Amino acid sequence: MSGPRVAVLGAGAVGAACARALADGGARVRVIDPGAGRAAGSWAAAGILSPSHPESLPGPVHALAARSLELWEDIAREHPAVELRHTGLVLVGDDPGWLAWRAARGLADEAAAWTRADGSEVAAHRFPEVRVVRTPRVAPALLADLPVEAATVPLEQLRAESDVVVIAAGAWAGPLLDAAGGGATVGPRRGQMLLFEDGRIDTVLMEAGPGGVQLAVPRADGRVVVGTTLEDVGFDAGTVPADLDRLEAWARAWVPGLGAREAAWSGFRPWSDRPVPLIGHVGPGLVAAVGHFRNGILLAPATGELVADLVLGRAPRVTPEDFSARPA
Ligand SMILES: Cc1cc2nc3c(=O)[nH]c(=O)nc-3n(C[C@H](O)[C@H](O)[C@H](O)COP(=O)(O)OP(=O)(O)OC[C@H]3O[C@@H](n4cnc5c(N)ncnc54)[C@H](O)[C@@H]3O)c2cc1C
Repeated sequence: MSGPRVAVLGAGAVGAACARALADGGARVRVIDPGAGRAAGSWAAAGILSPSHPESLPGPVHALAARSLELWEDIAREHPAVELRHTGLVLVGDDPGWLAWRAARGLADEAAAWTRADGSEVAAHRFPEVRVVRTPRVAPALLADLPVEAATVPLEQLRAESDVVVIAAGAWAGPLLDAAGGGATVGPRRGQMLLFEDGRIDTVLMEAGPGGVQLAVPRADGRVVVGTTLEDVGFDAGTVPADLDRLEAWARAWVPGLGAREAAWSGFRPWSDRPVPLIGHVGPGLVAAVGHFRNGILLAPATGELVADLVLGRAPRVTPEDFSARPA
């Protein structure tokens, strides 16, 4: 093989998508990740392939999401284990900003009724195009035959050993970006999640209100994932009993037939001070793919494609300047 030697730092969904696209394009890829377990956003996430709070996101994020959704269909064909399913999403409660955003784009908003656990019916909106994936399976599927070196390797050593280093370390990318000279301020935003044994739900259910977003996501095996919180607590990957109880009470009211609580965890969304992810060169031989915040599962495939396009000198499918460290 004669492609460039590329080291990818981070084996979450974003790093895995970068590694996959680079390897498929002919690069000689190393993937390095000391391992964050369930605290990695890509393990913890709900797996909804639809932008969260779309009305607050700039156009380039939607362009990246649109390209990602095309790639997600290819990934699902090649890797059925990711369990991509067209579940749709039912929105209950009041979210005029989201509804107005959809109406302005001519996106379907079907009148629906949601039957709560006590049998009462509530008016709702159904967004039929929404898909979900089983998040912990995404990065392993994309990495496939690419091994992950479970280590922390100093950036300078990797730069000496590689033609390009890709920083895709999610919420942990701050020190790496600082060493590279900046580009964005990034940090963790915790989200707590619960898993229930079963429940009579075959669509994503979401209630957005002043207290945040509550959601329930059915898995193909019949289990139900429930969340979530949005907290600035540094790298504290614990869970808070009162928060879990509040989320469970919400789910017991809204999801008929909810089974026993099976597990709980929290993970870190990679927040950044930019309105769009940073995807591009941040120094000689250094490319960043960071700051995907609430939407990194959705955006991972097109992020990987853009990184590979930049590294391999191909024509990008999205406008790279929209994501670069210094927008044109
Ligand atoms: C509760 C919750 C719900 C979410 N729901 C959704 C959703 O429904 N849809 C959606 O699209 N997004 C969702 N997200 C957001 C999504 O999870 C993230 O945006 C996405 O996982 C970020 O992927 P990543 O690969 O950048 O980061 P991560 O998955 O966090 O991976 C970063 C990796 O970098 C590694 N690392 C750390 N330091 C180093 C180092 N020095 N060298 C090498 N590797 C390093 C870590 O060990 C980790 O494995 C959710 C997030 C949370 C927490």
